[in-house]
Amino acid sequence: MLAVLLLDLVKYAIHRTYHSVPFLWRVHQVHHSDPDFDVSTAVRAHPIEMIFTQGGYLAAVAILAPPVLAVLVAELASCFQSFFNHANASLPGWVEKPLRFLLITPDMHRIHHSEEVEEQYMNLGDIFPWWDHLFRTYLAAPAAGQDGMIPGLKGFQNEGSLGLAFMLRQPFLPEPRADSLPEIPAASAR
Ligand SMILES: [Zn+2]
Repeated sequence: MLAVLLLDLVKYAIHRTYHSVPFLWRVHQVHHSDPDFDVSTAVRAHPIEMIFTQGGYLAAVAILAPPVLAVLVAELASCFQSFFNHANASLPGWVEKPLRFLLITPDMHRIHHSEEVEEQYMNLGDIFPWWDHLFRTYLAAPAAGQDGMIPGLKGFQNEGSLGLAFMLRQPFLPEPRADSLPEIPAASAR
């Protein structure tokens, strides 16, 4: 269990690094620029992010040399959590409130996908919420409330920013990168 916790801390640290280093944040913006927070958001990431994340994580595994079973459990839990966290669903309060002490819930991770910059720096954990509590990056609720919160990135709420070619170029474009592109029709914007 200790090794699983440690591997989860590695994932927390990698995610926090994406939000702290300017170029890495631009790479990670592809994941955050999804104006719809749902399961597909979990697999929306720039190839550079996938390579860096796997490279960093495997390097940490090589250095820490945890038991094989711990790596297997951590990876399976991380995979499950990746889809569960990004689910476009809210659990009933009597389930969600106690559960978020043990696992990161969709309501908790959705806050991380708020278009408000301060909220994007919160709830960075992968499997367990404890690292966010320990390192003071835990936020219980968005300022606008779960119903009023807008997911995505400001300047990326338009049709042009949803294209594959744009997303692949996104980390290398000057800011703001999508403001001049056509707006998504209101009906499909959310
Ligand atoms: Zn993030």
